[in-house]
Order: sequence, then C-alpha cells, then structure tokens
Amino acid sequence: MPELPEVETIRRYLNLKLVNECIDNLEVLNESSLRCAKGLSVNDLKNQYIKSVSRRGKYLNIGLEDYNLVIHLKMTGQIYFNPPIPPINHLRWVLTLKSGSKIYFRDVRKFGRLFIYPKDDVKYLLAGEIGPEPWEINLSYWQKKLKSRRSIKTLLLDQKVIAGIGNIYADEALYRAFIHPKKKCLDLTLKQALDLLKEVRTVLDCGIRYGGTSFRDYLGGDGKKGNMQDHLLIYQKTGGLCPRCGERIAKTKVGGRSSHFCPKCQKLD
Ligand SMILES: [Zn+2]
Repeated sequence: MPELPEVETIRRYLNLKLVNECIDNLEVLNESSLRCAKGLSVNDLKNQYIKSVSRRGKYLNIGLEDYNLVIHLKMTGQIYFNPPIPPINHLRWVLTLKSGSKIYFRDVRKFGRLFIYPKDDVKYLLAGEIGPEPWEINLSYWQKKLKSRRSIKTLLLDQKVIAGIGNIYADEALYRAFIHPKKKCLDLTLKQALDLLKEVRTVLDCGIRYGGTSFRDYLGGDGKKGNMQDHLLIYQKTGGLCPRCGERIAKTKVGGRSSHFCPKCQKLD
C-alpha cells in the first residue's frame, strides 16, 4: 500500500502539472470508486479551476474553486498523468482537463476512493480521522500516546495517532531506532521514544527523496517507479544479514502484519 512518501511524491508531481488547469469532465467507470457528498454530482466539477494539490497522511487533496477532490489509493490505486499509452484494464475514472491533459485512475483491487466535498464541508480535512503529520508531533503528544499497552509497531500504524506510516516505513524506523516491533509502548525509555520519532521522520524524508518505494503497484505521478526499495535496510530482507551486526534478519507477525527485525539489534527485553 502506498504510504506517506509515495503519496507525497505523487502530490509534488501533480502540483507542478495541475495548478491553474480547468476541469472539463470526470468520467467514472466504476461507481463504487466514487463518493459524492449529498446533492453533488460529477457534473458540478465542470469548469472548476484547480487551485492546489495537498496531502494529509496517505490522502491526496485536489483543491478546486468550490470543491475538494480527496483521493485515497488504498492497496493498488495508481495515478497516471498524460501517460504515453493510457491504461485500459482496471480503469476506474478519468479526469479530463480543458487543456486536453488527462489523469487516469487505475485500481486492480477497487479499494481506492475519490471523494467529492463542497469547499465549505470540512470533512476533507479528515479531522479526528487522522493524527498529526510526523513532523508536527511534539514530545508531550508523543509521550501521551506512548502510555499504552499496545505494541509500538501497532501504534505506528494507527493513522489516528500518527499520519502516513505503513508497514514498510514502520519496520525501517523501528530497526533504525533499535526497537523490537513487539515492544510495548509503555516500556520505551524516553531516549527510545525520541530516537523513534527522529527515525520515523528520517525514513519518511528518505522515502520522499527517492521518490517512494516500488515493489509492485506504486508509480509516481510521472508513471515512473520510485527507488526507495534500493535503500531499505530491513523490510522484506528476511534471512539476509543485518547491515549493522551480521545477524540473520527475522520476521514475525505483529497485529497481523509481517514485521522484519534483527533479533540481536532489536531485543524485546
Ligand atoms: Zn543487527
């Protein structure tokens, strides 16, 4: 699933391409991919100028004059802006601009969503559904959230606590901070809590710098794969050697999610 760095990579590309463009029409090929606020239809988007492209957690927001288009890619959503060869299979919607440019949304698993909200409907801000961005978190908030018996990995994946982290960046941040994924939040020392927050930001920054991680479906807005998979230290490296100590990298399940860790560098007790 695309995480914060992948969505941010797409946002940066679309922001360059879309601002000041005007919408001609939105063609919806799969009705379940669309969620319109009450009383709205896709026809309302015609002749709307695009003012901004922003991001909250893993959500993209295309800000129009009178509406917000909020996109979640979920498992397999892909955005193609003016691709040389337009996708045909698994196409869910196509946004055509007055300039002739097109955005195609392809989604094999069909979990991706496009929400249309009127500008004055603050639901697009996702308040209450998504916690702060990782760079906005202060120590008192972080310490409060860590007073929990949950495992630290589960906490990192909770979008209501911290926005944008998924399995890849959670494993990488925990490895870099020398913390076992099953460690209870309550048992973290102050130093570990601070180190973890720092490493979360570092791996996300790194993911953005390399244009996201592409194992299977993820493509940046320009249709190219990211390169962060070449810079991961622990994720999906089970059986390989820890780059720090040479121990074999192990895999366990935490809250139903595969978690990669070094048994020597990331001790549970
Ligand atoms: Zn190690």
